[in-house]
Amino acid sequence: MSETTIASGVTLPDETKPWIVSVTDLIDAPGASEELEVTWPAPAELAVPLLGVEQGSPMQVDIRLDSVHEGILVSGTVTGTLTGQCSRCLDSITETTTVDIQELFQFEYDPTLEDDEQHMVEHGFVNIEPVMRDALVTSLPFQPRCSPECEGLCDQCGIRLADAGPEHYHEQLDPRWAALANFASENASDETSSDNS
Ligand SMILES: [Zn+2]
Ligand SMILES: [Zn+2]
Repeated sequence: MSETTIASGVTLPDETKPWIVSVTDLIDAPGASEELEVTWPAPAELAVPLLGVEQGSPMQVDIRLDSVHEGILVSGTVTGTLTGQCSRCLDSITETTTVDIQELFQFEYDPTLEDDEQHMVEHGFVNIEPVMRDALVTSLPFQPRCSPECEGLCDQCGIRLADAGPEHYHEQLDPRWAALANFASENASDETSSDNS
C-alpha cells in the first residue's frame, strides 16, 4: 500500500525532498518511535552575513521521532560544515557545527499559539527544515572569528597580526605630539631650528 494515497485534490509534500519525513506509521500510535540517521543537502540561505552552510553541502541528521498524543516530537542533532570569513582578520573559516533540535509537530492547529510558534503534521509528513534552520541560524555569531584569540589586522598597516608576530610594531606618536611635530615642520621651512643640538 502506498503511503501517499490520499484524497485527490490535496497537494502532498514531496516525499522525495530531503527534510520532509513521512510519519504515517507514527500517527495514532502514541509511544511508537522511529530513528533517522541520514545525510541531506543543506538548503539555500542557511547563513548570516559572514558565516553559513553552503547550499547542497552534506548535513548529517540524527533524529528521533516520537509519537505522542498531541503530535510527533522530533529531537536530535544536525551537523554541518560552516564556511565564512573572520570578522576581524578576514581569513576564511571552515568549521563543523552541531545543533540540537527539539520540536513538537502538532496534529491539531492550536489557535492559542502564534503561527510561527507551531509546526504541524501535514498530510502525514513533518518538515524538519524550518526547525533545523531556526536552530542553526540562531546559533551563528554575527561576528565570527577564525579563532577565539584572533587579534585581527594591524590598524596601521593592515597586516594580519597573527602572521606578523608579537614583535610587529609601528613607531607611533601621540596625536598631540604629532600635531606639534606638524606645526614644527611647517615652521621649520620659515625658520632655522635653534634647538636641534
Ligand atoms: Zn581572524
Ligand atoms: Zn602594522
